[in-house]
Amino acid sequence: MPRTIPGIHHVTAISGPPQANVDFFTGRLGQRLVKKTVNFDDPGTYHLYYGDATGAPGTILTFFPFADAGPGRAGPGMAASYSYAVPKGGFDGWMERLAEDAVDFDGPVERFGARVITLRDPDGAPVELVETDRAGDAALDGFHGVTLWERDIGPTARLLTGIFGYEEAGHETVGGVERLRLKAPGDARGTFVDLMRSDAPSIGRQGAGTIHHVAFRAEDDADQLEWREALAAAGHAVTPVIDRQYFNAIYFREPGGVLFEIATDPPGFAVDEDAAHLGEALKLPPQYERIRDRIEAVLPPLKVA
Ligand code: ZN
Repeated sequence: MPRTIPGIHHVTAISGPPQANVDFFTGRLGQRLVKKTVNFDDPGTYHLYYGDATGAPGTILTFFPFADAGPGRAGPGMAASYSYAVPKGGFDGWMERLAEDAVDFDGPVERFGARVITLRDPDGAPVELVETDRAGDAALDGFHGVTLWERDIGPTARLLTGIFGYEEAGHETVGGVERLRLKAPGDARGTFVDLMRSDAPSIGRQGAGTIHHVAFRAEDDADQLEWREALAAAGHAVTPVIDRQYFNAIYFREPGGVLFEIATDPPGFAVDEDAAHLGEALKLPPQYERIRDRIEAVLPPLKVA
C-alpha cells in the first residue's frame, strides 16, 4: 500500500466573470494569483490559480471562470464548501475588518469546537474561515479542509479511512445536519474532510459558484501510480495519468459522486516562470503556444491589483 494521503492539494471551482474573482481572492482574502493559464480542455477559458506566496500544495484554489456559466447549486454528490485556516489569534481581526468594510458574513458558529465564519465570493459561493491552533499572523494559512455533501456517508468514509489512511476525528449533528469529520494523519494543510449528510431535498447542479473537484496530494509520480493501483484494485474507475503542467493528475468519482483527483506535488508553479513573478504572464502549455494570439484575443483582460 502507498503511504497515507497527507491532505488536500487543491480545490477547483467554477466562477462567473474572472475580474471579480481575481479582485475578491487577491484583494479581500489576500491570496496570490500564482498562475494565469487556460483550461487545458477549453483553451478559450482562463484557469486561475490562487495560493500562498509560493503556491504550496494545500493552499491552491483554482477557478474556471466561464463567462456564460449559469449559477450552480451545491447538492448531494458534490463538494459543498472549502474552508481556509485562520491562524490562532487572527480570527477576531478578520471579523473586525470584515465588519469595518461592511462585508456580510454568517457566524461565527461552532463546528467541532472551533469558530467558523462564512463569507460569499462574487458568485455567492461559501468561503469558510476556521479558527485553528496554527501559528501565524492574520494571513490565511491555506486550507483547513473541505465539506462533501453525501446522501450516504458510509461508502465515502470507508474510502477515506480504508484507502487514503484518514482517521475519524469527530461526529456531530447540528440543526438536523449530520457531519462526520475525517482527518489525514499529520499536520499538513488541508487535512480535514467533513462528510455532511442532510435530508434537505436538494439536487445539485454544476455552475458558477460550485466546486468542480477536490484534489489530494501525491508525493511524486511513483506515489501517484501506487495510488492509482490501489484505487483500481478497490474497484474505482480511475483515469490514466494526465499532464497538467504544474502537476500530474488522476481522477475518479468517489462513491457518493464527488470528483476526486490525486495530484503530484512536483513540479509546482515555478516550472515555467520565475517564482518572484508567478501569475503575472499568461502561461500556456506547449500544445497551445502556437495559437497564443488566438487565445489572447478571446480571453478578457485581467488586472491584478
Ligand atoms: Zn484539479
